[in-house]
Amino acid sequence: VITMAIESSCDETSVSILRNGRNVLTNIIASQILQHQKFGGVVPEVASRKHIENINQVIEDALREAGVTFDDITHIAVTYGPGLVGALLVGLSAAKAIAFARGIPLNGVNHIEGHIYANFIEHKDLEPPFIALIVSGGHTHLVYMKDYGEYEVIGRTRDDASGEAFDKVARALGLGYPGGPEIDRLAKIGNNKAITFPKALLEEGSYDFSFSGLKSAVLNYLNSQKMKGNEIHTADVAASFQQSVIEVLTEKTLACAKERGINTVVLAGGVAANSGLRELLGEECKKRGIQLKYPSLKLCTDNAAMIGCVGYYDYIKGLRSDMHLNAMPNLKIGQRY
Ligand code: ATP
Ligand code: MG
Ligand code: FE
Repeated sequence: VITMAIESSCDETSVSILRNGRNVLTNIIASQILQHQKFGGVVPEVASRKHIENINQVIEDALREAGVTFDDITHIAVTYGPGLVGALLVGLSAAKAIAFARGIPLNGVNHIEGHIYANFIEHKDLEPPFIALIVSGGHTHLVYMKDYGEYEVIGRTRDDASGEAFDKVARALGLGYPGGPEIDRLAKIGNNKAITFPKALLEEGSYDFSFSGLKSAVLNYLNSQKMKGNEIHTADVAASFQQSVIEVLTEKTLACAKERGINTVVLAGGVAANSGLRELLGEECKKRGIQLKYPSLKLCTDNAAMIGCVGYYDYIKGLRSDMHLNAMPNLKIGQRY
């Protein structure tokens, strides 16, 4: 099976071509970060317009880089949610047009499942079941993945997503967008014990997350320091904030793995690129004899290869989407069509 996969849910236009779901021939990612940076976040209308401008070129580039033509493509996979509706519609329309014109099967893919499947691309021997910690710009989920396409959501954020918290705190610190990589960089030189920020562990035994209290605590700290005329040590604030986030993520993930008796943990989503999280969770997993897998940096953030991988596994299960497939901005994990 040669899959062409298209991703346009947020601010990257990406097209990948894969052989049998896990073998990536190409994974082109056209990022719009520069267009959105001056606004400090993604502007939906700008994103949609940029996707329209980019999509045909990215498709052509992908075919050329993979050394194939449309005649070689036997299957189409596309993100249909969750994400920005106008952005999703661009990739979805292109995918439906190709599937219809070529008469080849189409699978609509859940973007969040894509983040998990990024791990299958690089870890060829990885198989479910495992516990997945999905930490992205818009989502924070602790999931028990029983089998391909079968998920049990064990915990989720009750307010901000972890990536959102990174981005908001970064903005308050006057750092660029997206803020996660900036905080990660500064945290390496800052003292993570300089300031004690709250860790929201919630009720005993809860696997849910909450990051808005932490975000407010950082904002309050910054305001009070300014009022007192104190100098703010940006790197210390970044390191202390990051420490609070990664400790909560690590504690809950390990408690969940223990309760379920699972010895494989998988990290997914943009915040999986965080070096502090990789290190802390890595050390704690090692102590417990748990294997930890995470994607390389390029596959942590949005890309079409991870979408193609989900589409392939859905396809070999016999699932198909049709021409009525529509964008679903609030699509839930495990929901099909
Ligand atoms: P979603 O996948 O939930 O729809 P999204 O696609 O916008 O949202 P991703 O592409 O998964 O999000 O990830 C982007 C997020 O990852 C941003 O919030 C960004 O700040 C964060 N991020 C990227 N690199 C790092 C890092 N090194 N440390 C912390 N956060 C990071
Ligand atoms: Mg993005
Ligand atoms: Fe994403």
